[in-house]
Order: sequence, then C-alpha cells, then structure tokens
Amino acid sequence: MTSSVSIARRGMLFVVSSPSGAGKTTLSRRLLEADKDIDISISFTTRPMRPGEKDGVDYSFVGENTFLRMQKDGEFLESAKVFDNWYGTPKGPVMTAIEEGRDVLFDIDWQGAQQLAEVVRGDLVTVFILPPSRQALFERLKNRAQDSDEVVAKRMSQADHEISHYAEYGYVIVNHDLELASRQLLAILHAERLRRRRQTGLRDFVQSMIGEDGA
Ligand code: 5GP
Repeated sequence: MTSSVSIARRGMLFVVSSPSGAGKTTLSRRLLEADKDIDISISFTTRPMRPGEKDGVDYSFVGENTFLRMQKDGEFLESAKVFDNWYGTPKGPVMTAIEEGRDVLFDIDWQGAQQLAEVVRGDLVTVFILPPSRQALFERLKNRAQDSDEVVAKRMSQADHEISHYAEYGYVIVNHDLELASRQLLAILHAERLRRRRQTGLRDFVQSMIGEDGA
C-alpha cells in the first residue's frame, strides 16, 4: 500500500461568480461534494430568508442595523449591496482556514471579488461561470422565476451587468455541459493547490530528500 505524502500549504480563497441562472450554485455544490478539503464561506445578509433556506447554513440572516454595525467594526473581509440587500463575508473564519491550509469557496458577486483581490491577492483564485448562450440564460431565468416578463427582463439586465465583469476573473468556464463544467472547476482547484508558492512545506521536504548540501 502506498502512503500519500502531505506537504504543508497555505489555503486559498476560491471565488466562483456568475449571473444568476448560469449554474453557479449547482457547480459549487458539486465541488463541495467532490472535494472534502474545501469549505464554503457562509455570508451574512440582510435579505429575507427564502423558503427552504436555513439560518447559519445558507446565510447568517441579520437585520440591517446589525449588518451595518459589523461593517463599521471591520468584521467583514468584503461586503456589497447586491440588488436591494447587503451581503458580507465574515473575516475571522476565512483567515483561520487559510492559515491552517484549508481552502474556502465563495459564492459572491463581482464587487466582492474585486474587494477580496485588494485584501488577499496571492491567496485568491477567481472563476467566472458563463451560460452557453443568451437564450439558455433567458430560458433558465424564465423557468426558475415563473414570474412576469417584466421581472425576467430585469433579471436579464442584471445578468448583463454581472457578465460585463468576466474579464476581471482569472478563469472562465462556459457551462454548456454540467458534467464537463464540474470537472473543469475541480481541475482548477487541484492545479491551483500545486502552485509552488502555496506549498509552504516544500523547501523542508526537498531538503530532507537531497540533504543540506544539495544535489
Ligand atoms: P442570493 O440572494 O440570490 O442568494 O444572492 C444574490 C447575489 O449575491 C449572488 O450573486 C451571490 O453570489 C451574491 N452574494 C452572496 N453572498 C455574498 C457576499 O458575501 N458578498 C458579495 N459581494 N456577494 C454575495
């Protein structure tokens, strides 16, 4: 039996953004199921809880006063108003995970990705999910919302705005096949873990192999 070699590394912040309707939630769920070394960051939000959602699981649901107090006290790594509600990533759990070599997945919008890029830089990996076509996005939004044409039109224009930020991301996946897109997302995670600068234990590992004098 072979035993695996474990080399200490820093964790990374793995951001996945997309317009709603492009499959981001499904892809994120699949990534969490496929890889046990990445946890999702649970955001705080002021938006009302939807049926089926759980406090502390999908989001931590708080009132606007609490949110704004936390924001003022610097408790968020990033925060943004998306549509009509506030969303924010709590700082503490993320920084602890990174230092301990665990990765954290973020389902956040382009504003959050931009703010994270300013504060964490080297530990950040960003992926943008595109729908396969405008028509496919329209169909998904229409089927999902079962709303008036006006509501669907508003969501389409919000999607256009989100998509206009695709070029700020390091990786882009076109989700025309869920299986393929899931594999591509997992491949990005695995490749990024192997970046030399993330593998902080590499120097000791190699030294123990070739000895102090080098080869
Ligand atoms: P929803 O209310 O549909 O769950 O999310 C609406 C949008 O807010 C999605 O694009 C989602 O990615 C984004 N979002 C969720 N949590 C956060 C967060 O903590 N920060 C930012 N910037 N965006 C978030």
